[in-house]
Order: sequence, then C-alpha cells, then structure tokens
Amino acid sequence: MSAKKRNVETICVQGGWKPRNGESRVLPIFQSTTFKYDSSEDMADLFDLKAEGYFYTRLANPTNDAVAAKICELEGGEGCVLTSSGQAANFYAIFNICQAGDHFITSNNIYGGTYNLFGVTMKKLGIECTFVDPEWDDERIEKEFRPNTKCFFGETISNPGCAVFDIERFAKMAHRHGVPLIVDNTFATPVNCRPFEWGCDIVTHSTTKYMDGHATQVGGAVCDSGNFDWEAHADKFPGLCTPDESYHGLTYTKAFGRKAYSTKLVSQLMRDLGSIPAPQNSFLLNIGLETLHLRMARHCENAQRVAEWLEANPRVAWVNYAGLKSSKYYALAQKYMPKGTCGVIAFGLKGTREDAIRFMDNLQFVNIVTHVADARTCVLHPASHTHRQLSDEQLLEAGVAPDLIRLSVGIENVDDILADLDEAMKK
Ligand code: PLP
Repeated sequence: MSAKKRNVETICVQGGWKPRNGESRVLPIFQSTTFKYDSSEDMADLFDLKAEGYFYTRLANPTNDAVAAKICELEGGEGCVLTSSGQAANFYAIFNICQAGDHFITSNNIYGGTYNLFGVTMKKLGIECTFVDPEWDDERIEKEFRPNTKCFFGETISNPGCAVFDIERFAKMAHRHGVPLIVDNTFATPVNCRPFEWGCDIVTHSTTKYMDGHATQVGGAVCDSGNFDWEAHADKFPGLCTPDESYHGLTYTKAFGRKAYSTKLVSQLMRDLGSIPAPQNSFLLNIGLETLHLRMARHCENAQRVAEWLEANPRVAWVNYAGLKSSKYYALAQKYMPKGTCGVIAFGLKGTREDAIRFMDNLQFVNIVTHVADARTCVLHPASHTHRQLSDEQLLEAGVAPDLIRLSVGIENVDDILADLDEAMKK
C-alpha cells in the first residue's frame, strides 16, 4: 500500500520513523547538535544543497524530521517543517513569502497570540495585515486585496470563539487573487479535517495542543501541500522564483519544484532565525501523535455530550459548539469535519463576569489553565485571563464575548465532567 493512501489511524501509529534492519523500533532521540562526515567535500555538498543529509540540528535533525514526516503524511502534504512553537510556525508560514512592504489578509477571529503577532509585531517588520470578518460577503472581503497582498490566513476552528472557517470559499478567493491560503489546523487536527483536500495551500499547527495532547512540550509545524503554483505568480513571490544570492544563486522553484516553499523555509528562515524544536520535544510529540486518532474521537464524543448538556441548562445563556444543530457553524462543520470538530466549547453563563469567575473557582478537577486542547478537561475566561488588558468593546472586536468561557473537554469519563460542571454551577 502506498504511503499516500494510508488511513490517518495507521499514519498516527506508523508514520514518520522507518527503522532499517536492526535499528530501534521506537523513534530514537538524536540529541546531538552535529553530525560527522568523512570528507570536507561531503560536507560542502550539504551546504550547497547538492546532497541530502544532516549536519547541524538547527537545519535538520533525524528525530525532528521523522515527526515532521508523520505530520506531513497526516495532512497529505509535500513538505513539513517543525518549529519550536505554534507562534513560530505561524510567523514562518507568513514570513517565508512576505517581506517589508508586503501585505496579507487574515480572518479577525484568530487566536489572540496570532492576532498580536500579525497586527503588532509583523507590522514592526514592515508587513501589514488586514483583519476581515469571515462573515462579510465576498465582495466586501475582496476589496481588501491589494497588489502587494501575499496570502490569506484563517483557523479551521477559531480559538477561543469556535467559529468554523469556510476553507473552500477562502481558498477560491485567495486563488482568484493569485495568493495561497494558509490555515491553522490546530484545533481540528488532520484526524478531523485535512484542509488541503479543500484547496488550502499551507497548513500550520501549534503541536502543543491535541497533537501532543499531554501538555508536555511546546511546538509547531508548517506543512506545505506543494500545490500552489508560485511560478505562475512569480512577480509576487521573488523569494521563491528568483535566485537566492545567499545560496549561490539557486532558485527554489526551479531546484526543488513542489518542495520549494518548505526547502526555503528551512534553508533561509531556520538557518537565519532558528526556532527548531529540541529532539527530546519531538520525541514526546511523537508519542502523543500515536494516539491522536483515539483521543480526538473521545474529545468529540465527550464535548458533544457536554455541549448538549450546557444547551439544555437554564443557567447557561449561550453555547457555541459546531456539533450542535443550533450552531450557525453546524453546516460548515458537517462539510469539513463530518467525524467531529474538537473538544473545545465556548459558552456564557447567565449573570455577570463575577458569576463566571465564581463558577470556575468552584470547579474541582476541571482546572483553570491557560492551556487548551489536551487530555485533561480545563477552562479559561479569556476576558479575565488571556485578554484581560482589553475593554469589553475591544474584546468584541477581537471576536471574544466578555462572558465567554472556554471549556476544553478532555478524555475523562464524561459523567464525571458533567458532575463537576453541575456542582460548580449550583454553587
Ligand atoms: N494557533 C492556535 C490556534 C493556538 O490556539 C495557539 C495557542 O494557543 C497557537 C497557534 C500558538 O501556539 P503555541 O502556544 O504553541 O506557540
């Protein structure tokens, strides 16, 4: 059976590391910065990108590469690079094709850290970003494209609002304007959604979340489908389509074809900026990936029960979970994620902000943590925690209702989760 045709469950367990005769069955941790060669010429060929091989872990490491290969196969991509965090992944995904003077468009309901990266930090680098409401009609959003626009960005399921992104619609829109669509697929994971099948060109991940699933490492990934035709828009993407003087005049699209984007990301951005994961972290991530398919199914099953319970609860003002028939994202979720979306639910209690805080303080094993999307059920009130510097008005602009509670449903027994929520609400 060809590797491309394997099912996600098999890839989760078997993908990536391919031991040769007599080698370790379990992915080894190559905790080494450097690799040895017999001749100076062997090493020179690596630097010239004439030969493949390892020489320095900032550029490539066998443990990291094996895990990247697994994620690449899970997404159905052509090339994948691991990063030291999800933030680094989103930064590199954009910075690989944008430079000072360029512009890109993003959905406005994205994770707060990404919002700040795009709106504040990248602006300091001379890269401008326009935030659009994905619920605006095409005509209104398309007015935001400029001659120097280089990509469109969105999250499959937004954090923390749980909105579902219409991947196919925005892929077509981006392509009408000659730019790729980049989707952060952290919450859905490739077990539930494979954005490349809907025309998306590049996928990013915070592997810190479900992919790891046990909150043991911070990491990220950028995966390229290899499908975007950079040469057809060569004027927009000179970094890929014209000679790179820092690599002896090599042109990435000509030298690497469908792997041009991922090769450039490693040989320029990793070389110059770093942000690789420690091999030890990739090892931990790989253990998480081996059960991703089992955990995602259980997260979705538990979250569906909890969302239905919340919806029927008189103390609850509103619930947003795309698995609920009442959700305005239900149809999109059925289209893109028929197996289920994820374990994260956004809801509001009837009452004040203080009531929301009292409810959370009264929870027992459902803990208050900044983290989201792991095996343990956890909860956060963005207005009091991650977004506490924002006024109510600014919160709404960022797509975060002031009363929004983000509940990340874990894989415990769902009756116990419901009992904990119920007790805390009653108090
Ligand atoms: N993307 C999404 C959707 C996230 O939820 C997060 C973090 O919560 C990130 C990116 C950033 O990832 P990391 O915390 O691994 O840097």
